Amino acid sequence: MAIDLVTRREWGARPPRGSYGRLTSTKGVKVHYTGGRVNPDIVDDHAKCVAMVRSIQNFHMDGNGWMDIGYSMIACPHRKVFEGRGPGRLPAANGAGLNSAHYAVLGLVGNAGLVQPNDDLLNAILDAVDHLRAKGGAGREIKGHRDGYSTDCPGQALYAWVRRGAPRPGGQTPGGPQEPSPPAFPGRVLKYPPLMEGEDVRTWQAKMKARGWSLEVDGLYGERSREVCRAFQTEKSLPVTGAVDRATWDATWKAPVT
Ligand SMILES: [Zn+2]
Ligand SMILES: [Zn+2]
Repeated sequence: MAIDLVTRREWGARPPRGSYGRLTSTKGVKVHYTGGRVNPDIVDDHAKCVAMVRSIQNFHMDGNGWMDIGYSMIACPHRKVFEGRGPGRLPAANGAGLNSAHYAVLGLVGNAGLVQPNDDLLNAILDAVDHLRAKGGAGREIKGHRDGYSTDCPGQALYAWVRRGAPRPGGQTPGGPQEPSPPAFPGRVLKYPPLMEGEDVRTWQAKMKARGWSLEVDGLYGERSREVCRAFQTEKSLPVTGAVDRATWDATWKAPVT
């Protein structure tokens, strides 16, 4: 199932007060909860989710003095994902010094009232993670706010889920119906030398990074990309050419990660 995005315009976001710090990639994503009471009525009324996200933005801008809401994306119990700062932009919610390493995704549950995330909320968090991997070079890590920072966030329930490896509810396996379909082969083989540049290169690099390979998502297919490609082809018993042909491109999305 594709991500069900609630754009900033749709939720009535205030414009940011300044320009964002840029990010080309991160180690992954940190999961947050609200830390306060969440009205359980939001489960029956998505309009209440929208109101809540707006009030969080107001609190971050007027209370904390931040330039915008602190989260990259916000997941609600209707499997909808609100655009916060979005991919490629430095979040503010992880704590000083910890924002460039991970994007920040909020799940709309708290420490009172609505405490337990439903399946739609967990799926929405994972939809947000997939989006940040595809568009923002997020790496494989899914951690809790409390990892490396003194806080009880993201609360007991979400943190237990994170510690189990943040599985898709219902035990979806890779390749199942909820997996996004892989992007079509760009129609040219990505290879080096000479240095090759393009969105197709960036798309492939972002996916490889999300699979756990260490490389820059810079849209330039050079020595490092070739090296990663060769190692990946070796691992998947593909012809080791160092060039991303159709079979390698498809395997990038379809082959199991391990
Ligand atoms: Zn947090
Ligand atoms: Zn909602």
